[in-house]
Amino acid sequence: MVIKSTSRNFERKKIELMKQNAKNLHTCPLCGEKIEVGFEKGILSKVAEDGNYPFPHVHLHGSPLHAMICYVDRHSVVRAVGGIRSIEISRDSKTFQQFMAKWSNPY
Ligand SMILES: [Zn+2]
Repeated sequence: MVIKSTSRNFERKKIELMKQNAKNLHTCPLCGEKIEVGFEKGILSKVAEDGNYPFPHVHLHGSPLHAMICYVDRHSVVRAVGGIRSIEISRDSKTFQQFMAKWSNPY
């Protein structure tokens, strides 16, 4: 039990660390949901290497499934937001595995 609790605390701290860049609360233009967006540090590093700003970030949610697209500047601040109704997901096992991995990692 103690080990499990420690593991849970570690996991929570890890998520908090990842979320420290989540300083953007935005309203989805399609459904009106208020969504806190955050970015994986690894992705931010890759974008910084590329130097292409603003970079697009997609947040999938809702029923029916749709997305909010955010354009993010070099300070991790969302500068523009849009809605995406048209979504297509490849039906192959590699994509499904990546989707599940992303699902378990909120950022
Ligand atoms: Zn929405």
